[in-house]
Amino acid sequence: MAELHEVIIIGGGPAGLTAAIYAARANLAPVIIEGYAAGGQLMITTDVENYPGFPEGVQGPELMELFRGQAERFGAQLITADVSRIDVSASPFGVWTDGEEYRAKSVIIATGASARWLGLESETRLRGYGVSSCATCDGFFFRDRELVVVGGGDTAMEEALFLARIASKVTVVHRRDEFRASRIMAERVIAHPKIAVRWNAEVERVIGDDVVESVEVRDTVTGAVEVIPTAAVFVAIGHSPNTELFINQIEVDGAGYIVTNGTRTSVDGVFACGDVQDAIYRQAITASGSGCMAAMDAERWLDSSAHESSTTQHHA
Ligand SMILES: Cc1cc2nc3c(=O)[nH]c(=O)nc-3n(C[C@H](O)[C@H](O)[C@H](O)COP(=O)(O)OP(=O)(O)OC[C@H]3O[C@@H](n4cnc5c(N)ncnc54)[C@H](O)[C@@H]3O)c2cc1C
Repeated sequence: MAELHEVIIIGGGPAGLTAAIYAARANLAPVIIEGYAAGGQLMITTDVENYPGFPEGVQGPELMELFRGQAERFGAQLITADVSRIDVSASPFGVWTDGEEYRAKSVIIATGASARWLGLESETRLRGYGVSSCATCDGFFFRDRELVVVGGGDTAMEEALFLARIASKVTVVHRRDEFRASRIMAERVIAHPKIAVRWNAEVERVIGDDVVESVEVRDTVTGAVEVIPTAAVFVAIGHSPNTELFINQIEVDGAGYIVTNGTRTSVDGVFACGDVQDAIYRQAITASGSGCMAAMDAERWLDSSAHESSTTQHHA
C-alpha cells in the first residue's frame, strides 16, 4: 500500500493553502494535491483590494504565490495534479491522481467553485478588464459609473443591489420577462431608483478593446439589437462547486455544495473548506478562514482518543 499520510488536502486555492500552513505548522506533514488550476480562482484576477494586510492592494497571482511560499516554508508538500478519484468508504482513505495513489488518515477538501459564464469570446477576453463574476470583489473599481448585471436569480439581485450603492446606474439584463429570484429580492430591485431592468434580452457581445465599453443585447421577442453603454459587466448566472469527485461518497446539497457542520462533512475524518462548501460568502478571506478551521479540526480529530482507538495500527 502507498505511504500513509496524516492529512491530504485536495485543492490549492486560498482555503487549501491556508489549511496547509496550519497543518504543516502542527507537524502533520500535509500533502496538497493542488490541481492543474494551482492557486485557484484568484489566478484569473488582477487587483485584490479587500484582502487584509495589503493596504495598497495585491495582484491575485502574486497573493497566491505568497500563500504557496508560506505553506512550503513549513514543509507542506505540493503536488500539481488533478485528483481523479477518491475512496472515503474505509480508513485509511484513498486519493488517486492519474499516475499515483495516496493514502491518508484524514482528508481536507478545498476544490473551490467555478463561476458560470455566458460563453462568449468577448466575455473571456475582457475578464478582469470589466467582465467580472463578483460585485463584492470588483464593484468598487467602478464607482459612479454605469454598470450591467446579467441574470435573474437571487445572486443577480444581490449583485445589482450591492452595485447600486456604488454605481451611478445599474441595468439588469435578463432573458425572460420575470425574475427567478425570490419575490422580496426581485421587488427590491424593480423598485430601486438606480436600477433599470432590460427584460427579454440576451447579451450577444461585450464591446471594448482593452476594457469594457458597452454590451450588445438582442431582444428575445423582437430580435432587435441594442447597445447599452457600461463600464463593467457582472455575470451573475450562478456558480458550480467542484464536487463531481465526491458525489455518492460525501453529502452534498441540492446545488452540489458539500454539506458541512463547521468543517466536518458527512464522513468522519473528511473535512471541507472554502467555496466548495460555501454558497454565500465566496471570498478569499472567508475561504482562508475556513481552511484554518479545517486544519485545526483535522488535527484535533487525528488526536482524539476515539480515533486513536479505531486506528491504533497507524500510530507508531
Ligand atoms: C475573477 C475573480 C475575482 C475575484 N476577486 C476576489 C477579490 O478581489 N477578493 C476576494 O476575497 N475574493 C475574490 N474572488 C473570490 C475568491 O477567488 C474565492 O472566494 C476563493 O478563491 C475561494 O478559494 P478556495 O480555496 O475555496 O477555492 P479556489 O480558489 O476555487 O481553488 C480551488 C483549488 O482546487 C483545485 N482543484 C479543483 N478540482 C481539483 C481536483 N479534481 N484535483 C485537485 N485539485 C482540484 C484547483 O486547482 C484550485 O487549486 C474572486 C473570484 C474570481 C473568479
